[in-house]
Amino acid sequence: MANNADEFRIRLAKSTGLTDSAIRAAWPEWWSEAADASPSAQAELRFSLARNLGLDPVTVLDDQFPKFIWDDSAKYKSFKGDDERDKPAITAFGKSVTRMLVKSVAQARPLVGMPASQLRQSILRNNQYVGLIELLATLWAVGVPVLHLRVFPLPAKRMSAMATSFQDRHAILLAKDSTYPAAIAFNVAHEIGHIACGHVTAGSALIDMDHDGVPQEQDGEELEADKYALELLTGDPEFQIEKQGQGRSARDLAKQVLAAGPEMRIEPGTMALCYGFATGEWPTAQGALGHIYDNAIPAWEVVNKIAMQQMDWTKLSDESTHFLKAVMGAPA
Ligand SMILES: [Zn+2]
Repeated sequence: MANNADEFRIRLAKSTGLTDSAIRAAWPEWWSEAADASPSAQAELRFSLARNLGLDPVTVLDDQFPKFIWDDSAKYKSFKGDDERDKPAITAFGKSVTRMLVKSVAQARPLVGMPASQLRQSILRNNQYVGLIELLATLWAVGVPVLHLRVFPLPAKRMSAMATSFQDRHAILLAKDSTYPAAIAFNVAHEIGHIACGHVTAGSALIDMDHDGVPQEQDGEELEADKYALELLTGDPEFQIEKQGQGRSARDLAKQVLAAGPEMRIEPGTMALCYGFATGEWPTAQGALGHIYDNAIPAWEVVNKIAMQQMDWTKLSDESTHFLKAVMGAPA
């Protein structure tokens, strides 16, 4: 083979737009300088990268320009970017992670067709309310893995979350992070909504891009997933907080939702965010979160700690284990 691994790495980045961290995560552990001289090791390196990153194996050989396996089946919501350059990288990466992830847990119960009220009831049987931890535990229990991506296929982290499918299985991949669980709980509940409502094409993905709170023109599926999320989290698909009295401080709001939340079986942080949504008083709602939770922990740490514990690593190849651990920011 004419090119050595370093040259190939540069060509791969240039041709696909993949980040250095994504390529590094997919780079096999066994690779060494000594392997560079071996044509069979060079070939194995390229096939390994192709498997991990969803590249067309034919395009990684010789001096071709690596390309993703052609696939435009994924649905993108609020997408702004270069369709031809960005979408193949995100879709391929998401599908590849999903294919490995679903092997690590058996499916106990499919979520497709599951009404929000039924899922909420089953969670409330053993919990006070439906918060992030309760959602994560439920997803792993039914066999829908959920992971927070610490490695992104493209330089700008423009993704919020995605619901993905491999064969008859589903997974949820989170991209946006928060120091408080409530915002991420809503994202997770929204993605559950996409899966349960049958929005995710079999073997493909639905990607919610991050629109930074700027209202988007929402399609029917987005509205349906939002209603599903709201019903799952609060019991009412149209849940709205009515503001009584004049403005309140963040501390007062925290006090009120800490009292009313458990009573209504709504996680207090979720209730504070509902207040922000209803009133537009986001600084108050955000400030309240600081009083509601004892300490601020990045949600990704919580999500991936649970994933590490729930995954059956013995079901994964060394190659997949190495790649997934890198993608989830876990020590190798
Ligand atoms: Zn969505």
